[in-house]
Amino acid sequence: MTELHELFLKRLAQTSDAPIALEISRAEGCWLVAADGRRYLDLIAGIGVSALGHGHPNVIAAIEAQARRHLHVMVYGEYVIEAQVQLARRLTELLPTKLERVYFTNSGAEAIEGTLKVARKATGREAFAAFDGAYHGDTMGALALAGNPAFRAPFGNLPGPVRHLPFGDSAALDQIDSTIAAVVIEPVQAEGGVRIPAASFMRSLRDRCDQVGALLVFDEVLTGFGRTGKLFALEHFGVVPDIIVMAKALGGGMPLGAFCGSDDLIGTLSHDPPLGHLTTFGGHPLSCAAALASLEVIVADDLSARAAMIGADLARRLREINAPEMTAIRAIGLLIGIEFAEAQFAHRFVAETISRGVIVNWTLNADKVVRLAPPLTIEAAEIDFAVARMIEALDATRQERQVVR
Ligand code: PLP
Repeated sequence: MTELHELFLKRLAQTSDAPIALEISRAEGCWLVAADGRRYLDLIAGIGVSALGHGHPNVIAAIEAQARRHLHVMVYGEYVIEAQVQLARRLTELLPTKLERVYFTNSGAEAIEGTLKVARKATGREAFAAFDGAYHGDTMGALALAGNPAFRAPFGNLPGPVRHLPFGDSAALDQIDSTIAAVVIEPVQAEGGVRIPAASFMRSLRDRCDQVGALLVFDEVLTGFGRTGKLFALEHFGVVPDIIVMAKALGGGMPLGAFCGSDDLIGTLSHDPPLGHLTTFGGHPLSCAAALASLEVIVADDLSARAAMIGADLARRLREINAPEMTAIRAIGLLIGIEFAEAQFAHRFVAETISRGVIVNWTLNADKVVRLAPPLTIEAAEIDFAVARMIEALDATRQERQVVR
């Protein structure tokens, strides 16, 4: 163990007893280079962040130019910051018309928190609905929506009440009633195990929200910016939410979140009282500059269509492996879930794949599911490399499990 690794374990807060603990020296394209010189193909892109891979020249140039111009100058919302304004303009051009006003935050969870406050203020209601298997972040409000009770349990009373509904089940939608301020849903559940609902379910959900006057919130923190084969996953369903929440790939590798809705909804934050929802660093100029550069590449190179094509091909190749331990491959664009019959097999497979130089990981709320979310720029030869290593990892996992038995 290196000195740095020891210090990492000793001085940084740990989020589990088993961190991957790869000592990162640098990152370029779809590859991470470790301190010992080993190269790892990044099939998770920092969990859905690095849509353009690492170190895209346009993003680096935008960050450099903005850094020379200015960094932080004032709390969010007071000065006219060109990087923020241009990004908001471009986002609202690309989103459905009624998603016309943007509030920038530092992270996805913070954008969820702002959304919950808007929903309460705009509707005068207190309750929320969310879905089993959901993940919306780890601040108190976002955690209250979490669809895995194990993660909520240690933290006592959370904001609510929150009604948790089965994901994708139209019959359960009548539990959304006129006490609900907002229904928050990931259009595709990522941490829930890459679960893709039917378009009919999403349309029924929209109808039900309209009937009872609840806001419909799409959490596109992970699904946005081409990941699912469309710029935003909402395009798969023909449904427009009242608020869309974004983060992860939005910032092009810099920390940035946003929530976006109509003038009427987002406008509730500016009065009664004024200054009632503030952030110092939300929409940081460096993050917004990086975000705009990244967004322009995603649009100009049509990386959404690329994700759809490459993702379909990768999913087909995974299905052809035909290993009895793999019970399902669920794919939408370059968000792919490999479901195994057993959680232990899935965890061992992750370790074996990483040891062969390909980074994959499991999902938080579905322990039998391994998730792939590579940069949208991944090349055919890199996919070949990944598939070959995963086949080797499957064999190794199988042999190991036989020895254990
Ligand atoms: N929503 C979804 C769907 C996510 O996947 C995540 C993070 O993984 C979040 C919200 C929280 O975002 P952040 O980690 O930036 O707070």
